[in-house]
Amino acid sequence: MTTRRDFLKCAALLGAAAVPVSYAAGQETKPAAKAAAADNPLFQESYKKRFGAEKTEPRKITIPDAGKWKVLKGDFHIHTLFSDGHVMPVDRVHEAVQNGLDVISITDHIEYRPYFSEGGRWKLDSSVSGDHNIAYNTAKPEAEKQNLLLIRGTEITKRQMPPGHFNAIFLKDVNPVADAVDDWKKMLAAVSEQGGFVTWNHPGWVAPASGGLEKGVPMSFTSEHEDVRKKGHLHGIEIFNGFNHYPAVGDWCNELDLSPVVTSDIHVTELAMYGIQNLRRPMTLILAEDRTEEAVRDAFFAHRTIGWAMDMIFGRPEAVEKLFAACVSVTKNNGTVHLVNKSDIPCRIQADGAEYELKPQGSVSFKAGGTLTVANWFIGTNKPLTV
Ligand SMILES: [Zn+2]
Ligand SMILES: [Zn+2]
Repeated sequence: MTTRRDFLKCAALLGAAAVPVSYAAGQETKPAAKAAAADNPLFQESYKKRFGAEKTEPRKITIPDAGKWKVLKGDFHIHTLFSDGHVMPVDRVHEAVQNGLDVISITDHIEYRPYFSEGGRWKLDSSVSGDHNIAYNTAKPEAEKQNLLLIRGTEITKRQMPPGHFNAIFLKDVNPVADAVDDWKKMLAAVSEQGGFVTWNHPGWVAPASGGLEKGVPMSFTSEHEDVRKKGHLHGIEIFNGFNHYPAVGDWCNELDLSPVVTSDIHVTELAMYGIQNLRRPMTLILAEDRTEEAVRDAFFAHRTIGWAMDMIFGRPEAVEKLFAACVSVTKNNGTVHLVNKSDIPCRIQADGAEYELKPQGSVSFKAGGTLTVANWFIGTNKPLTV
C-alpha cells in the first residue's frame, strides 16, 4: 500500500527528474505558462483530479411500496446552531442524504437559542426575538439541490413538565408561533391555524427539578395534554427519541388517536451520535401517496407513520400490518411456511415455540401451524404484531 507520504516522496523525485528531461528534449512547443509553472516555486498544483475525492455512496435503504403507498424515510426532530445544535442547517441536509433519508424537518428551539444570547454566552431562555425561519431558509437551497424534502418546523420548549416540549412541523412561518411564547397553549393554537402537526416530544422527560426518570418519576399523559388533544392541537407523540424508548406511548397512540413518531433529536453531528460504524439512525417511515410535502403531511394526520429504531418497529396496527405485507411474503407449501424478507428491516419471527431470525433480504422456513408473531414489530405497548 502506498501511503500519502510515500506518494509525495515519489512525486517529488519524478518532478525533479522530469524538469531537466523536458528541457533536454528541447520542447519549445510546450506552452510558456506551463514551462514557467514548472520552474516557479510558487506554482500551485491541485491533486484533486489525480486522486479524486473518494466518493461515498449514500446508504441505500430498501423498503418495497405498501400497496399504493410509497414508504418514505424521515427524521422530524433535528437541531442546528440556530438553537443548541452543533452544526449548520446545510450539514443536516448532507447527513440526511448520506443516511438515505427522503425527508427531514429542522426543529430548533424557539425559547432556547444560546448562540443568540447577548455576548454570545450560553444562557437558558435567551431572547426569542429574530427570525425563527432562518434554519429552514439556510438549508432550503441545498435540500432542493440534493432532492431532499425539507419541512419547516420548530420546537416549543417549556421548562416544566407538564407541558414539556412539542415539535410543530408543516409550518408556513415559525414567527407567529414564537410571538405567542408566553402561553404554550396559544403557541399550539398558532400551529393549528397554519395547518401544522404537533408532536409531544420525549414524553418521559421531566424537568430536572422534579428529579428525572432516574428518580422514579413515572411518565403520564396529564390532563393538560388531554386538554390540548381534545382541542385538536396535539396530533402525535414520540415513542422513541435518540436512544430512549417510551413503551406506554404505543397504547396512548391507539387509545387517544395519535400518530407515533420516532426521531433522533440530534444535536451533535450524525457521526458523533451514531458513530462511524453507522449504528442505524432512528427514523419515521411514512406511508405516503408520493414523495411530496403534502403527501407526507397527509400521512402524519392519517396515522400512516411508523417508527424504526434499534431494530424495532412501532406503529398503529393498520399501518404496521400494511408495512409487513409489503416487506415479507408468506407462502405455505406441503406443511411448511416460507417467509421471504424483501426489505432491509429485520424481523424476529416466533412460531411453534421457536424463534427465527428473518434478516434483511433473507428468508426462513419452518413447520406450519399456529400463529406467527413478529416479536420486534409493535402495534401497542408490549404488543407484537401477529400474522
Ligand atoms: Zn426537547
Ligand atoms: Zn429537541
